[in-house]
Amino acid sequence: MKPIVRLKNISLSYHSEQGETPAVENVSFDIYDGEFLSIVGPSGCGKSTLLSIISGLSKPTCGTVEMIGNHKSAYMLQKDHLFEWRSVFSNACLGLELQQNLNDENRNKVHELLKKYGLGEFAFKRPSELSGGMRQRAALIRTLASQADILLLDEPFSALDYQTRLQVSDEISRIIREEKKTAVLVTHDISEAISLSDRVLVFSKRPAKLKTEFNIDFSSKGKAGLSAREDPEFKNYFNKIWKELDK
Ligand code: ADP
Ligand code: MG
Repeated sequence: MKPIVRLKNISLSYHSEQGETPAVENVSFDIYDGEFLSIVGPSGCGKSTLLSIISGLSKPTCGTVEMIGNHKSAYMLQKDHLFEWRSVFSNACLGLELQQNLNDENRNKVHELLKKYGLGEFAFKRPSELSGGMRQRAALIRTLASQADILLLDEPFSALDYQTRLQVSDEISRIIREEKKTAVLVTHDISEAISLSDRVLVFSKRPAKLKTEFNIDFSSKGKAGLSAREDPEFKNYFNKIWKELDK
């Protein structure tokens, strides 16, 4: 597989009046074209910081982030940030609008995406008329429409209840694969990481250091809902990652 982002010896410390907080320490890894990569680690260890470094919004204290080729990243967050005074369609166009790139061709693409992923009939409704899952799908379509090829997902499902979360995370990962995007998902939910990812990177408590990585491959992988999670191979991965986190 082809690497498209290369992180080399990345460290970042926050400075405040209370002193220095090291958040990320000497982290190196590649992100491969088209993969679904998860970053797991204890709460507060530096996962969001790492994602923000990948996006280019935060500059590391040392180390380098190299984009190999011409790539654009975009965020999807826990809160969907849909604006209530705009229709679903007009929310989905927001990224393009901000890029001053909203033309008829792109408007049609947004319509196509909404239709393809079951929101066609809701295009001119308000966000409050959608379910939590549909709202996340609308937020994803906005991200997809912005023509980024690397999607950065920071705990995007953590505000949803368990049932909805299983369904929405399956749905969102299917769409990301179908659209052939590369995804980096930050989560503290080991099961979510295993069921969605091709590869899981396990980080230590703060400052985040890369402890180990797992390539995820088992026979029922990709099956929706609980069926993959009930597979003994799934439990095997779960135990291995749990042990790493606990060390
Ligand atoms: P995670 O996403 O894994 O929960 P974060 O990357 O958000 O962790 O934060 C890592 C550590 O850095 C935490 O201890 C947090 O309090 C601290 N931190 C995050 N952002 C800032 C900031 N802007 N200024 C100072 N400290 C910060
Ligand atoms: Mg975070």
